[in-house]
Amino acid sequence: MKTVIFQLSGGITSWAAARKYRDRYPDAPFQMLFADTFIESECAYRFLICGAADIAGVDRPDFWNMEIPSIDLENPEPRRMVLKALADAAMDAIPGLNWIWDGRTPWEVFRDVRFIGNSRVDPCSKKLKRDLMDAWRTERFAPDECLISVGLNWDEDERIERIKERGAPWEFITPLEHRWEGISGDQWSGMGKPQWIEAAAERGLPRSLAYEQNLAHDNCGGGCVKAGIGHWKDIFHKRPEVFAQWEAAEAGLMAELDSPWGMLADRRGGPKKPLPLSALRRRIELGDVTEIEARTLGGCACALPV
Ligand code: SF4
Repeated sequence: MKTVIFQLSGGITSWAAARKYRDRYPDAPFQMLFADTFIESECAYRFLICGAADIAGVDRPDFWNMEIPSIDLENPEPRRMVLKALADAAMDAIPGLNWIWDGRTPWEVFRDVRFIGNSRVDPCSKKLKRDLMDAWRTERFAPDECLISVGLNWDEDERIERIKERGAPWEFITPLEHRWEGISGDQWSGMGKPQWIEAAAERGLPRSLAYEQNLAHDNCGGGCVKAGIGHWKDIFHKRPEVFAQWEAAEAGLMAELDSPWGMLADRRGGPKKPLPLSALRRRIELGDVTEIEARTLGGCACALPV
């Protein structure tokens, strides 16, 4: 039987995909793979550890709730050291968990490649997730020896198709699809994100603050170069410290690169113009964000070739 590699993000759907697969194939060999950017939210790390223990069928380690320093984009080293120690302890305690890293944060990648990522070009995800996970897998498996499970949901048909095409010769599976392996009557069928969150809570997994805050996603602490204006507006109101740190990091690197372009673009009329977070801040404060912009959340799908 092929080994299934559950790609975990610290979020609900990648856990749910793994849970669904394990329920269907309890005896199948598996590995869990998480690539760290060192700027995930504390909730994401806690959910990752508890979720991985749940998938592995072991008790969650007693350090699952240990204190993690807050994100500091200017000085990430103290947090990085704590997280590496946490990763080592988690891998010792949870069979099948592989917690890997390139060593840099997304902003350190942007500085190295001299380019700030955006919704179309994401060097952070490429260097810190996709390339790293591909290398990990290639060192251990041939394409016909494993399956790769990802947490795309049943309402993401286009992405599911793309990942299967672009991922070849590797075989990606999406257990949250309605019609996965023809299953239509199991306990997980037709479930969306709210139901997965409830299912996780019933299994004793910690609830992420991102769900209380109704954020579109929580990757990289809620900030993301691929997020849209609407998501950044949400972050401005709900996680002002994250907005402020990304705003400062963006302004610093734009100055260093002598470029007017940061992550976002203003597409209101005429050709698109740069929209640094400092400018978005002013527009939010003036109530100058259109309804269409506010609905532009962007799709993260970090780590996936979609
Ligand atoms: S979540 Fe966004 S910012 Fe973070 S690595 Fe992925 S694409 Fe880059």
